[in-house]
Amino acid sequence: MRHAMRHPTNRRLFFRCAGAAAGTVIASAFSSPAAPGGVGAPAAGKKTGADSSAKKTRVLERTSKATLTPFGLNHGGTLRFILRDGRVWEMTLLATSAEVIRRHSAIRPRPDPNHESGDIAAYAFDCDVRINGTAHHLRREVGTQASFYEPWEVDGVRLWFDAVSCAFKEDGGFMAEKDWRGGLLCKPSHKARFAVQESDLPICPESLQPWYPNNAGRIDIRDCYNGEDCWMGPYNGAAAHCGLDINMKAGTVLTAPISFDDHYLFNSVAAGFNNNRWRGVRRWPDGSEWWLQSHHLIRMLVPERTALAAGTPYATTAGVMVGAHEHTHFVFRIHEQGGDYFLDPWILFWEIFRGQRKKAA
Ligand SMILES: [Zn+2]
Repeated sequence: MRHAMRHPTNRRLFFRCAGAAAGTVIASAFSSPAAPGGVGAPAAGKKTGADSSAKKTRVLERTSKATLTPFGLNHGGTLRFILRDGRVWEMTLLATSAEVIRRHSAIRPRPDPNHESGDIAAYAFDCDVRINGTAHHLRREVGTQASFYEPWEVDGVRLWFDAVSCAFKEDGGFMAEKDWRGGLLCKPSHKARFAVQESDLPICPESLQPWYPNNAGRIDIRDCYNGEDCWMGPYNGAAAHCGLDINMKAGTVLTAPISFDDHYLFNSVAAGFNNNRWRGVRRWPDGSEWWLQSHHLIRMLVPERTALAAGTPYATTAGVMVGAHEHTHFVFRIHEQGGDYFLDPWILFWEIFRGQRKKAA
Protein backbone atom coordinates (compact mmCIF):
# COMPACT_ATOMS: atom_id res chain seq x y z
CA MET A 1 0.00 0.00 0.00
CA ARG A 2 1.45 3.33 -0.98
CA HIS A 3 0.96 6.69 0.61
CA ALA A 4 -2.67 7.66 0.41
CA MET A 5 -3.18 11.37 0.68
CA ARG A 6 -6.29 12.14 2.65
CA HIS A 7 -6.18 15.93 2.57
CA PRO A 8 -7.06 16.96 -0.94
CA THR A 9 -7.10 20.64 0.04
CA ASN A 10 -3.38 20.41 0.82
CA ARG A 11 -2.54 18.99 -2.56
CA ARG A 12 -0.88 22.09 -3.93
CA LEU A 13 1.16 22.58 -0.76
CA PHE A 14 2.20 18.92 -0.73
CA PHE A 15 3.59 19.12 -4.22
CA ARG A 16 5.42 22.36 -3.59
CA CYS A 17 7.04 20.78 -0.53
CA ALA A 18 8.03 17.71 -2.49
CA GLY A 19 9.59 19.84 -5.19
CA ALA A 20 11.40 22.11 -2.79
CA ALA A 21 12.96 19.17 -0.97
CA ALA A 22 14.45 17.91 -4.20
CA GLY A 23 15.73 21.38 -5.05
CA THR A 24 14.54 21.17 -8.59
CA VAL A 25 11.96 22.71 -10.81
CA ILE A 26 8.50 21.25 -10.71
CA ALA A 27 6.83 21.04 -14.04
CA SER A 28 3.30 20.71 -12.94
CA ALA A 29 -0.13 20.92 -14.37
CA PHE A 30 -2.59 21.08 -11.54
CA SER A 31 -6.19 20.70 -12.30
CA SER A 32 -9.06 22.20 -10.45
CA PRO A 33 -9.91 19.16 -8.40
CA ALA A 34 -13.22 17.55 -9.09
CA ALA A 35 -15.90 17.85 -6.44
CA PRO A 36 -15.62 15.13 -3.80
CA GLY A 37 -17.67 12.08 -4.58
CA GLY A 38 -18.23 12.88 -8.23
CA VAL A 39 -16.63 13.89 -11.46
CA GLY A 40 -16.98 17.62 -11.15
CA ALA A 41 -16.16 20.14 -13.83
CA PRO A 42 -13.17 22.38 -13.22
CA ALA A 43 -14.08 25.65 -11.50
CA ALA A 44 -15.42 28.22 -13.93
CA GLY A 45 -13.08 30.98 -15.01
CA LYS A 46 -9.87 29.14 -14.15
CA LYS A 47 -7.42 28.89 -16.99
CA THR A 48 -5.35 25.82 -16.45
CA GLY A 49 -4.18 23.08 -18.76
CA ALA A 50 -6.87 20.95 -17.21
CA ASP A 51 -9.72 23.11 -18.46
CA SER A 52 -9.26 22.43 -22.12
CA SER A 53 -8.11 18.83 -21.76
CA ALA A 54 -10.91 17.92 -19.40
CA LYS A 55 -13.51 18.84 -22.00
CA LYS A 56 -12.60 15.68 -23.85
CA THR A 57 -13.88 12.27 -22.73
CA ARG A 58 -14.65 12.60 -19.06
CA VAL A 59 -15.81 9.08 -18.30
CA LEU A 60 -14.12 6.19 -20.03
CA GLU A 61 -15.83 2.86 -19.62
CA ARG A 62 -13.87 -0.36 -19.92
CA THR A 63 -14.83 -3.93 -19.12
CA SER A 64 -12.33 -6.28 -17.52
CA LYS A 65 -10.89 -8.74 -20.01
CA ALA A 66 -8.21 -11.38 -20.33
CA THR A 67 -5.55 -8.85 -21.35
CA LEU A 68 -4.24 -5.78 -19.59
CA THR A 69 -6.29 -2.64 -20.30
CA PRO A 70 -4.29 0.52 -21.12
CA PHE A 71 -5.95 3.93 -21.00
CA GLY A 72 -5.30 7.64 -20.74
CA LEU A 73 -7.03 10.21 -18.54
CA ASN A 74 -7.07 13.98 -18.48
CA HIS A 75 -7.53 15.91 -15.26
CA GLY A 76 -11.03 15.33 -13.98
CA GLY A 77 -11.44 12.28 -16.20
CA THR A 78 -12.69 8.98 -14.81
CA LEU A 79 -12.21 5.35 -15.71
CA ARG A 80 -15.20 3.13 -14.95
CA PHE A 81 -13.75 -0.37 -14.98
CA ILE A 82 -16.37 -3.09 -14.83
CA LEU A 83 -15.00 -6.22 -13.15
CA ARG A 84 -15.92 -9.81 -13.92
CA ASP A 85 -18.22 -10.01 -10.90
CA GLY A 86 -20.10 -6.91 -12.08
CA ARG A 87 -18.51 -4.61 -9.50
CA VAL A 88 -17.53 -1.17 -10.81
CA TRP A 89 -14.01 0.04 -10.00
CA GLU A 90 -13.77 3.76 -10.53
CA MET A 91 -10.72 6.00 -10.71
CA THR A 92 -10.62 9.76 -11.28
CA LEU A 93 -7.41 11.60 -12.13
CA LEU A 94 -7.15 14.80 -10.09
CA ALA A 95 -3.64 16.12 -10.69
CA THR A 96 -0.27 15.26 -12.18
CA SER A 97 3.23 16.64 -11.71
CA ALA A 98 6.84 15.78 -12.52
CA GLU A 99 10.25 16.87 -11.26
CA VAL A 100 13.94 16.19 -11.79
CA ILE A 101 15.28 14.31 -8.75
CA ARG A 102 18.95 13.89 -9.68
CA ARG A 103 21.31 15.76 -11.99
CA HIS A 104 24.72 14.98 -13.42
CA SER A 105 27.55 17.31 -12.37
CA ALA A 106 27.65 18.78 -15.86
CA ILE A 107 25.62 18.89 -19.05
CA ARG A 108 26.44 15.88 -21.20
CA PRO A 109 28.22 16.57 -24.51
CA ARG A 110 25.87 16.52 -27.47
CA PRO A 111 26.29 13.15 -29.20
CA ASP A 112 25.05 14.33 -32.61
CA PRO A 113 22.85 17.11 -34.01
CA ASN A 114 19.81 14.83 -33.84
CA HIS A 115 19.91 14.31 -30.10
CA GLU A 116 19.54 16.70 -27.19
CA SER A 117 21.89 16.86 -24.26
CA GLY A 118 21.31 17.83 -20.64
CA ASP A 119 22.16 17.02 -17.04
CA ILE A 120 19.06 15.05 -15.98
CA ALA A 121 20.06 11.78 -14.30
CA ALA A 122 16.66 10.78 -12.93
CA TYR A 123 13.18 12.19 -12.58
CA ALA A 124 9.96 11.41 -10.82
CA PHE A 125 6.32 11.89 -11.66
CA ASP A 126 3.25 11.91 -9.49
CA CYS A 127 -0.48 11.85 -9.64
CA ASP A 128 -3.39 12.25 -7.29
CA VAL A 129 -6.24 9.92 -8.00
CA ARG A 130 -9.47 9.01 -6.28
CA ILE A 131 -10.24 5.32 -6.43
CA ASN A 132 -13.68 4.19 -5.31
CA GLY A 133 -13.95 7.31 -3.18
CA THR A 134 -10.52 7.12 -1.53
CA ALA A 135 -7.64 9.49 -2.32
CA HIS A 136 -4.34 7.98 -3.39
CA HIS A 137 -1.05 9.61 -4.26
CA LEU A 138 1.09 7.68 -6.74
CA ARG A 139 4.74 8.45 -7.40
CA ARG A 140 7.11 6.83 -9.89
CA GLU A 141 10.80 7.23 -10.65
CA VAL A 142 12.58 6.98 -13.99
CA GLY A 143 16.31 6.44 -14.35
CA THR A 144 16.80 4.75 -10.96
CA GLN A 145 16.42 1.11 -9.90
CA ALA A 146 12.88 2.05 -8.85
CA SER A 147 12.07 2.33 -12.56
CA PHE A 148 11.36 -1.40 -12.22
CA TYR A 149 8.34 -0.99 -10.01
CA GLU A 150 5.57 -3.08 -8.57
CA PRO A 151 2.11 -2.07 -9.72
CA TRP A 152 -0.28 -0.69 -7.14
CA GLU A 153 -3.07 -2.98 -6.01
CA VAL A 154 -6.29 -1.26 -4.99
CA ASP A 155 -9.64 -2.94 -4.34
CA GLY A 156 -8.87 -6.02 -6.41
CA VAL A 157 -7.29 -4.19 -9.35
CA ARG A 158 -3.63 -3.94 -10.28
CA LEU A 159 -2.73 -0.45 -11.47
CA TRP A 160 0.29 0.50 -13.58
CA PHE A 161 1.09 4.23 -13.57
CA ASP A 162 3.00 4.54 -16.84
CA ALA A 163 3.54 8.21 -17.69
CA VAL A 164 2.47 11.84 -17.31
CA SER A 165 2.53 14.36 -20.14
CA CYS A 166 3.77 17.26 -17.99
CA ALA A 167 7.21 15.62 -17.71
CA PHE A 168 7.64 16.48 -21.41
CA LYS A 169 8.72 19.84 -22.80
CA GLU A 170 5.71 19.88 -25.07
CA ASP A 171 3.50 20.10 -21.99
CA GLY A 172 5.65 22.42 -19.88
CA GLY A 173 8.09 19.84 -18.58
CA PHE A 174 11.79 19.12 -18.99
CA MET A 175 12.11 15.97 -21.14
CA ALA A 176 12.60 15.93 -24.90
CA GLU A 177 11.61 12.89 -26.95
CA LYS A 178 14.56 10.82 -28.10
CA ASP A 179 13.01 8.48 -30.65
CA TRP A 180 10.28 10.55 -32.34
CA ARG A 181 12.20 10.43 -35.63
CA GLY A 182 11.60 6.68 -35.65
CA GLY A 183 7.91 7.13 -34.87
CA LEU A 184 8.26 6.26 -31.20
CA LEU A 185 6.74 8.66 -28.67
CA CYS A 186 6.83 8.33 -24.90
CA LYS A 187 4.63 11.32 -24.10
CA PRO A 188 1.07 10.20 -23.43
CA SER A 189 -1.77 11.73 -25.44
CA HIS A 190 -3.59 12.40 -22.16
CA LYS A 191 -2.32 13.97 -18.95
CA ALA A 192 -1.52 10.49 -17.65
CA ARG A 193 -1.32 6.96 -19.01
CA PHE A 194 -2.18 3.88 -16.98
CA ALA A 195 -2.98 0.22 -17.39
CA VAL A 196 -5.22 -1.96 -15.21
CA GLN A 197 -5.89 -5.62 -14.75
CA GLU A 198 -7.85 -7.53 -12.13
CA SER A 199 -5.43 -8.62 -9.41
CA ASP A 200 -6.08 -12.34 -9.86
CA LEU A 201 -5.41 -12.26 -13.60
CA PRO A 202 -2.07 -12.23 -15.43
CA ILE A 203 -1.50 -9.50 -18.04
CA CYS A 204 -2.58 -11.90 -20.82
CA PRO A 205 -4.16 -15.36 -20.96
CA GLU A 206 -0.93 -17.11 -21.93
CA SER A 207 2.01 -17.71 -19.61
CA LEU A 208 4.91 -15.57 -20.78
CA GLN A 209 8.19 -17.23 -21.76
CA PRO A 210 11.59 -15.58 -21.31
CA TRP A 211 12.36 -13.03 -24.07
CA TYR A 212 16.11 -13.18 -23.50
CA PRO A 213 18.24 -15.27 -21.13
CA ASN A 214 17.93 -13.75 -17.64
CA ASN A 215 18.46 -16.09 -14.70
CA ALA A 216 18.45 -13.28 -12.16
CA GLY A 217 14.73 -12.60 -12.59
CA ARG A 218 15.36 -8.87 -12.33
CA ILE A 219 16.69 -6.00 -14.42
CA ASP A 220 19.47 -3.79 -13.11
CA ILE A 221 19.24 -0.14 -14.16
CA ARG A 222 23.01 -0.20 -14.73
CA ASP A 223 22.38 -2.66 -17.58
CA CYS A 224 20.13 -0.19 -19.39
CA TYR A 225 22.49 1.49 -21.91
CA ASN A 226 24.62 4.00 -19.96
CA GLY A 227 22.47 3.25 -16.92
CA GLU A 228 19.80 5.58 -18.26
CA ASP A 229 17.80 3.94 -21.05
CA CYS A 230 14.99 2.28 -19.21
CA TRP A 231 11.47 3.15 -20.49
CA MET A 232 11.35 6.97 -20.87
CA GLY A 233 14.82 7.09 -19.28
CA PRO A 234 16.81 10.34 -19.63
CA TYR A 235 19.05 9.52 -22.59
CA ASN A 236 22.11 11.77 -22.58
CA GLY A 237 20.59 13.68 -19.69
CA ALA A 238 17.80 15.08 -21.81
CA ALA A 239 15.57 12.92 -23.99
CA ALA A 240 13.05 10.26 -23.03
CA HIS A 241 14.14 6.90 -24.41
CA CYS A 242 11.16 5.27 -26.09
CA GLY A 243 11.79 1.66 -25.21
CA LEU A 244 13.69 -0.43 -22.69
CA ASP A 245 17.35 -1.08 -23.50
CA ILE A 246 19.00 -4.09 -21.92
CA ASN A 247 22.70 -4.69 -22.39
CA MET A 248 23.56 -8.19 -23.59
CA LYS A 249 26.32 -9.82 -25.58
CA ALA A 250 26.18 -9.65 -29.38
CA GLY A 251 24.78 -12.95 -30.61
CA THR A 252 22.36 -13.43 -27.69
CA VAL A 253 19.34 -15.44 -28.84
CA LEU A 254 15.86 -13.95 -28.42
CA THR A 255 12.86 -16.25 -27.97
CA ALA A 256 9.19 -15.39 -28.49
CA PRO A 257 7.71 -14.45 -25.08
CA ILE A 258 4.16 -15.06 -26.36
CA SER A 259 2.75 -16.65 -29.49
CA PHE A 260 2.45 -14.27 -32.44
CA ASP A 261 0.04 -14.31 -35.39
CA ASP A 262 2.63 -12.53 -37.52
CA HIS A 263 6.16 -11.27 -37.19
CA TYR A 264 8.62 -9.44 -39.42
CA LEU A 265 11.48 -6.96 -39.70
CA PHE A 266 9.92 -3.56 -40.40
CA ASN A 267 13.38 -1.99 -40.80
CA SER A 268 16.28 -4.04 -42.06
CA VAL A 269 19.87 -3.31 -42.97
CA ALA A 270 19.34 -5.45 -46.08
CA ALA A 271 16.65 -3.00 -47.20
CA GLY A 272 18.93 -0.03 -46.62
CA PHE A 273 17.77 0.98 -43.13
CA ASN A 274 20.24 1.67 -40.33
CA ASN A 275 19.05 -1.13 -38.06
CA ASN A 276 17.28 -4.47 -37.94
CA ARG A 277 14.04 -3.79 -36.11
CA TRP A 278 11.59 -6.62 -35.52
CA ARG A 279 7.91 -6.67 -34.61
CA GLY A 280 5.72 -9.52 -33.39
CA VAL A 281 1.95 -8.97 -33.66
CA ARG A 282 -0.64 -10.75 -31.53
CA ARG A 283 -4.38 -10.26 -31.87
CA TRP A 284 -6.09 -11.50 -28.73
CA PRO A 285 -9.66 -12.86 -28.82
CA ASP A 286 -10.77 -9.87 -26.69
CA GLY A 287 -9.88 -7.50 -29.54
CA SER A 288 -6.63 -6.15 -28.15
CA GLU A 289 -3.65 -6.13 -30.54
CA TRP A 290 -0.19 -6.26 -29.04
CA TRP A 291 3.01 -5.24 -30.78
CA LEU A 292 6.21 -6.46 -29.17
CA GLN A 293 9.39 -5.15 -30.77
CA SER A 294 13.09 -5.91 -30.49
CA HIS A 295 15.70 -3.79 -32.28
CA HIS A 296 19.44 -4.22 -33.01
CA LEU A 297 18.97 -7.77 -34.27
CA ILE A 298 21.80 -9.51 -36.11
CA ARG A 299 19.97 -12.27 -37.95
CA MET A 300 16.53 -13.88 -38.09
CA LEU A 301 16.50 -17.60 -37.21
CA VAL A 302 13.01 -18.34 -38.57
CA PRO A 303 11.08 -17.25 -41.67
CA GLU A 304 9.19 -13.97 -41.36
CA ARG A 305 5.51 -13.38 -42.10
CA THR A 306 4.42 -16.55 -40.35
CA ALA A 307 2.91 -17.39 -36.99
CA LEU A 308 5.50 -17.82 -34.26
CA ALA A 309 4.93 -20.05 -31.23
CA ALA A 310 5.87 -18.86 -27.73
CA GLY A 311 9.30 -20.08 -26.71
CA THR A 312 10.64 -20.25 -30.30
CA PRO A 313 14.16 -18.83 -30.74
CA TYR A 314 13.62 -16.23 -33.49
CA ALA A 315 16.75 -14.09 -33.84
CA THR A 316 20.25 -13.29 -32.65
CA THR A 317 20.57 -9.78 -31.32
CA ALA A 318 22.62 -6.90 -29.88
CA GLY A 319 24.96 -6.61 -32.84
CA VAL A 320 23.75 -3.85 -35.18
CA MET A 321 23.96 -0.11 -34.46
CA VAL A 322 24.47 -0.75 -30.76
CA GLY A 323 26.58 2.33 -29.98
CA ALA A 324 28.69 2.16 -26.82
CA HIS A 325 27.10 -1.02 -25.39
CA GLU A 326 25.86 -4.19 -27.03
CA HIS A 327 22.17 -4.15 -26.21
CA THR A 328 18.63 -4.87 -27.37
CA HIS A 329 15.89 -2.24 -27.49
CA PHE A 330 12.46 -3.58 -26.44
CA VAL A 331 9.13 -1.91 -27.22
CA PHE A 332 5.60 -2.72 -26.00
CA ARG A 333 2.64 -1.17 -27.81
CA ILE A 334 -1.07 -1.95 -27.56
CA HIS A 335 -3.83 -1.02 -30.01
CA GLU A 336 -7.34 -1.45 -28.69
CA GLN A 337 -10.71 0.23 -28.28
CA GLY A 338 -9.76 3.30 -30.27
CA GLY A 339 -6.38 3.83 -28.66
CA ASP A 340 -2.72 3.38 -29.53
CA TYR A 341 -0.70 3.04 -26.32
CA PHE A 342 3.03 2.70 -25.82
CA LEU A 343 3.68 1.09 -22.45
CA ASP A 344 6.71 0.23 -20.38
CA PRO A 345 8.14 -3.09 -21.63
CA TRP A 346 9.00 -3.68 -17.96
CA ILE A 347 5.35 -4.76 -17.57
CA LEU A 348 6.11 -7.74 -19.82
CA PHE A 349 9.31 -8.59 -17.96
CA TRP A 350 7.51 -8.20 -14.61
CA GLU A 351 5.05 -10.88 -15.73
CA ILE A 352 7.84 -13.07 -17.18
CA PHE A 353 9.81 -12.93 -13.91
CA ARG A 354 6.66 -13.53 -11.86
CA GLY A 355 5.96 -16.66 -13.92
CA GLN A 356 9.54 -17.87 -13.42
CA ARG A 357 9.26 -17.42 -9.65
CA LYS A 358 5.93 -19.29 -9.58
CA LYS A 359 7.45 -22.15 -11.59
CA ALA A 360 10.45 -22.35 -9.28
CA ALA A 361 8.33 -22.39 -6.12
ZN1 LIG B 1 17.24 1.95 -27.21
